[in-house]
Amino acid sequence: MTSSWQQELKQALRNDHGAGLNQNPAFDPAAAGLFAPVITDSMLQAITQAADPTPLWRQFLPSAAENQTTPGFVQDPVGDGAATQVPGLIHKYQGRVLLIASGSCAVNCRYCFRRHFPYSQSYAPRQQWQASLAYIRGDASIHEVILSGGDPLTLSTKHLVQLTDQLATIDHVKTLRIHSRIPVVLPSRIDDEFSAWAQHINTHKVMVLHVNHPAELSQASRAAIAQLQQLGFVLLNQSVMLRGINDHAETLKQLSLDLFGLGVLPYYLHQFDPVQNAAHFAVSEAQTRAIHRQLMRSLPGYLVPKLVKEEAGQPHKTPVMSG
Ligand SMILES: *Cc1c(COP(=O)(O)O)cnc(C)c1O
Ligand code: SF4
Repeated sequence: MTSSWQQELKQALRNDHGAGLNQNPAFDPAAAGLFAPVITDSMLQAITQAADPTPLWRQFLPSAAENQTTPGFVQDPVGDGAATQVPGLIHKYQGRVLLIASGSCAVNCRYCFRRHFPYSQSYAPRQQWQASLAYIRGDASIHEVILSGGDPLTLSTKHLVQLTDQLATIDHVKTLRIHSRIPVVLPSRIDDEFSAWAQHINTHKVMVLHVNHPAELSQASRAAIAQLQQLGFVLLNQSVMLRGINDHAETLKQLSLDLFGLGVLPYYLHQFDPVQNAAHFAVSEAQTRAIHRQLMRSLPGYLVPKLVKEEAGQPHKTPVMSG
């Protein structure tokens, strides 16, 4: 049986020639050819309802600026290619592994490094989960498994159950963490079946959302987040600092306050990775620090995300000191 969220997801992927996006006069077909435009009806609706839709369009609309290549901007800025243990499993940091559980997302964000990293080939296809699970079982120092992607919640609930049933047999895994943009871009995914699954998870449950701008928090996504809170997820958010989207302290302050209202604490604010074909999203390090300093001045400490960058070969995300 296909759930309604699966129909919306199929529709979004079928839109990969830009239905809904190509209505916008700034839609650039050449850029669309570089990285397929993918957006859900839910996000299109949020755009329609936004007081200022520009910060949302900018995240999803293929634009002419993407056709530029810029020196110093690269294909794999975070070195994930090198840290892959078994196909689809990245063990870069002590105690936690990242399982690329799905190669696809419900939206294609134009600034994402996934536009070059061939996740569609290197994610852990379900037949290969066994190798990843064997790796996790064999290393008792791994206490946290992070489902990432792509977006792990594009998997059917049936497949999520299969995965977590197996993880539940590994005693040293105490925490399941999910990195997902789906509660915001495809809120219907958080349905009864999902809730039944989440209720059966017997480890700690953490969900790290990805929201960059307060206008992404539509009515439907707020309801989905409220449901996640009911289900007992510890809710965190990560954002990327993006030019023309959230490169203002006021915007990020509002985002922290709105998320807090939904029970979500800010976690990371990523300095933009130098992703090739996305240089128009870059905010200088000096400006990023200045915005972060303003956030520290205007918010309680627990609503200020940690400013970090990702450097290949480092044992943790690198904190960026803003003063
Ligand atoms: C970001 C990341 C993690 C998680 O790091 P935390 O600091 O615990 O959020 C784990 N593995 C990889 C490969 C990562 O990129
Ligand atoms: S991985 Fe996250 S940021 Fe990248 S396209 Fe998917 S949803 Fe967007």
